[in-house]
Amino acid sequence: MSKIIIVSNRLPLNIKIENDHLTIEPSVGGLATGMRSVHEAYESKWIGWTGLAEENLNSELRKKVNVAVEKEDCIAVDLSNEDVDLYYYGFSNKTIWPLFHYFTEFAEFKKEHWDAYCKVNQKFADVITKNCEKGDTIWIHDYQLLLLPQMIKDKCPDVSIGFFLHIPFPSYEVFRILPWRNELIEGMLGADLIGFHTYDYERHFFSSVRRLLGYEINFNKINIHNRIVKADSFPMGIDYDKFHNAALEHHSKSIRDKSDIQQQLDKHILNTPDIKLILSIDRLDYTKGIAKRLHAFEYFLEKYPEFQGKASLVMLAVPSRANVDQYQKMKSEIDELVGRMNGKFSTINWSPIWYFYRSFPFDNLIDLYTSCEIALLTPIRDGMNLVAKEFVASKVDKKGVLILSEMAGAVKEMSEALLINPQNYEQIADTLKKAIQMPEEEQIERNTIMQNRLQRYNIDRWASDFLNSLNKVLEDKAKYIAKEMSAAIVKKIQTAYNKAEKRIFFLDYDGTLVGFKDKPIDASPDKDLYGILDKLASNPKNEVVLISGRDKETFTQWFGNKNYTLIVEHGVWIKTPKDDWKLIEQMKIDWKENIKPIFEFYVDRTPGSFIEEKNYSFVWHYRKADPELGAIRANELKYDLSGLISNHNLEILEGNKVIEIKNSGINKGRAAMHKINNLHYDFIFGVGDDWTDEYLFHDLPAKAYTIRVGLKNTLAKYNVNEVKDVRGLLAKLSQ
Ligand code: UDP
Repeated sequence: MSKIIIVSNRLPLNIKIENDHLTIEPSVGGLATGMRSVHEAYESKWIGWTGLAEENLNSELRKKVNVAVEKEDCIAVDLSNEDVDLYYYGFSNKTIWPLFHYFTEFAEFKKEHWDAYCKVNQKFADVITKNCEKGDTIWIHDYQLLLLPQMIKDKCPDVSIGFFLHIPFPSYEVFRILPWRNELIEGMLGADLIGFHTYDYERHFFSSVRRLLGYEINFNKINIHNRIVKADSFPMGIDYDKFHNAALEHHSKSIRDKSDIQQQLDKHILNTPDIKLILSIDRLDYTKGIAKRLHAFEYFLEKYPEFQGKASLVMLAVPSRANVDQYQKMKSEIDELVGRMNGKFSTINWSPIWYFYRSFPFDNLIDLYTSCEIALLTPIRDGMNLVAKEFVASKVDKKGVLILSEMAGAVKEMSEALLINPQNYEQIADTLKKAIQMPEEEQIERNTIMQNRLQRYNIDRWASDFLNSLNKVLEDKAKYIAKEMSAAIVKKIQTAYNKAEKRIFFLDYDGTLVGFKDKPIDASPDKDLYGILDKLASNPKNEVVLISGRDKETFTQWFGNKNYTLIVEHGVWIKTPKDDWKLIEQMKIDWKENIKPIFEFYVDRTPGSFIEEKNYSFVWHYRKADPELGAIRANELKYDLSGLISNHNLEILEGNKVIEIKNSGINKGRAAMHKINNLHYDFIFGVGDDWTDEYLFHDLPAKAYTIRVGLKNTLAKYNVNEVKDVRGLLAKLSQ
């Protein structure tokens, strides 16, 4: 039976060894908690590092660890101290982490870190490929494993792969700084589905894919040769009930059952009843903006001195990556700031900051969430920020105010919070005042909306949405695969071909017989292609028709003396081997002079684009333009043209990086049927790559063999992957 394999840098376990004795506890944190429900609900394995370097384990201990890990349905990837140093602390946390959070000045680009990153991703890939089977689903997590999807896809094409990035994906302008940007993005594209927390991260990812690799993107699907990769946003939720119920239970505890921290908090609140406790919880990370938050709080106490003695910041900073330089420097800066501010403002009864540098167990987190009326979460960049969601979920009486940075992914779902720019101290100070003075009804109103949303989009929903979407990608893929040209179908076509006495081939040119080039004139036919077509056309039972959107001058130059029929401008002109060009139907062209200035205007505004003027149409090419600007301008041009076409009986065609306007009713299907014209062909073949060829597939008789190049939704009967396959098939038939 197929299974789910969850993959993350760390296994969701805390393993400790003391005197050769092993203790294993489930670890906390968003990813571990979130995926645990998937791990328990499905038949699944979790693959990751145990947190114990291989040098620190003798063979006896390693066996013990493996047995213990296996009991939890986990599989360990062995990493050495050096691996962890270079791959985790190095490339993951000194290159990707700062860069993806826009801290470009902190990013290091060291070849040895990159090499280790590749090596460790390969170690993960080796363990996974050993443990997966056809039909399995592999769900890979986060920035430490960006290369892994492609490494697995290469070895095991029959598994489905989902990848979720838990941190932001930066804008192209930042991502492009990376020397290994193409490798990383290609690594990610090995997945069938790529998930992000927000649409902004998804959009940045598409932008990098387009600009770096030039792949075509349709809505949120990327076409890569014979595959479709989907990217989508799935904002990660929390285990809402766990936090909400723990908070409920917390309120009903007797004094004796309360934790030390809670008792001290209660005592303090009792002694200073009008004190407002302002909570801040984060890992001690430069992305969280802790120092700026302290400065902003200082500014608040100075701007509104009436709150001195009435508001305290309860600040929990969880130790993190303490052996990375920046983190050590930041820790000293924050220690100093807290010391200075407490020295400056404290009175005998009050200190402005209560600072905890450690991690709290779940129960104590609930103590803080329930006792503090305000949460001040001001990250400079944050992929999501689960603390914001946990704080709101724990407000069982719906009272409390969340102040949240605009730069946190969570903000997209929590617009009822008070939103601030973490760099704007003035705004933070004013917002703190507003929060302290916010009427209870307003607090309840805001929290009710957020709680309803958090309850619906909880962690289970997040995981199931992702897995369902991955399944959907596979179902769509199955539809395409059903049409994929197999050896049996090739045989069937060959048999029909051999039996037939009068055959006709409608062959589109660009994207079908030759690949695309930056300039259309450069996509001229090569010797091989002439060889294949000549051979096919030399058989007296065959008629070869090249049917294209190209102009007749170019085709005359390339094929004028050949034994093929040529149909150009999507069906305007026809030329049989012995004749000159003829119009298939009479058409007006008086519209052209009115339309030309519009096209010229778009060329001026879109560097790299140009106009191709044909006898009965204009084409605006934007393959060489900046991909995003090109796509935007293409939409604008279509919009401008759409207002004009109905009066002139024109139509707009959108091809591969081109917009064309021409007389309506003229298309490849109509031209092909004109050519067939009741003549009895007992073998009809049509092949093309873009939607202008769909007219051909639609109009050809049902018995025709129709083929579309590339994985797209099509009326054609079959799909092939690329130009090479079309050429191969034609060569085979002509033999
Ligand atoms: N957390 C914890 N103990 C602590 C402080 C925080 O278990 O002492 C948890 C917190 O409940 C939250 C997670 O750590 O689930 C932090 O997630 P967030 O998205 O806010 O930040 P990240 O650390 O992932 O950047």
